[in-house]
Amino acid sequence: MRILLVEDDALLGDAIEAGLKQAGHAVDWVRDGVAAETALATGDYAALVLDLGLPRKGGLDVLRGLREKKRALPVLILTARDTVDDRIRGLDAGADDYLVKPFDLGELNARLRALLRRAGGQPAPQLAAAGVTLDPANRVVTHCGAAIEVSAKEFALLQALMQHAGRALSRSQLEEQLYGWGEEIGSNAVEVHIHNLRKKLGADTIRTLRGIGYVMAKDT
Ligand code: CA
Repeated sequence: MRILLVEDDALLGDAIEAGLKQAGHAVDWVRDGVAAETALATGDYAALVLDLGLPRKGGLDVLRGLREKKRALPVLILTARDTVDDRIRGLDAGADDYLVKPFDLGELNARLRALLRRAGGQPAPQLAAAGVTLDPANRVVTHCGAAIEVSAKEFALLQALMQHAGRALSRSQLEEQLYGWGEEIGSNAVEVHIHNLRKKLGADTIRTLRGIGYVMAKDT
């Protein structure tokens, strides 16, 4: 999933970016509120991790602006200010969850998984479609009950397709979820990953809709 991280502290931002990437996300990191709004206006993000104390424009204002535009993406706020008031203001401004600094990166990733599940209408922690299961917490994929080895990009691609099972995703929508800024994208990278996934999971698992994109069959 593609995540926008907004954090002005270089050390903390570095650690969070690494932790999110470790969990298989594509991460765009900006360091102030104005840059966050620019990124949100153009990028297709699955979730926003938002510090509240930011230069140029505060996190609460970014959040309010986002919700005024009726943007529904899940927002997890980070705050160093361990006061109940800040957390209440953040939640009332439209945040879905919060973490108080210092926090554990494992907890951040677990909370994001929970937010992404709810946003995708997938209450179960594991995704299942077309005989395939995918466990985001343990990063395990099975096909017909057998564990399958997949690369980090293959995992992310499969997760995006399974979260939207029954719906076609275009190549550019998939690229958005797989690659952060500055990451080199080969012109046929998505096709190559799809090809590899079909070899591992069976040719019929992911269908190509010519001119539209790729779709994974939904379990009925
Ligand atoms: Ca800050």
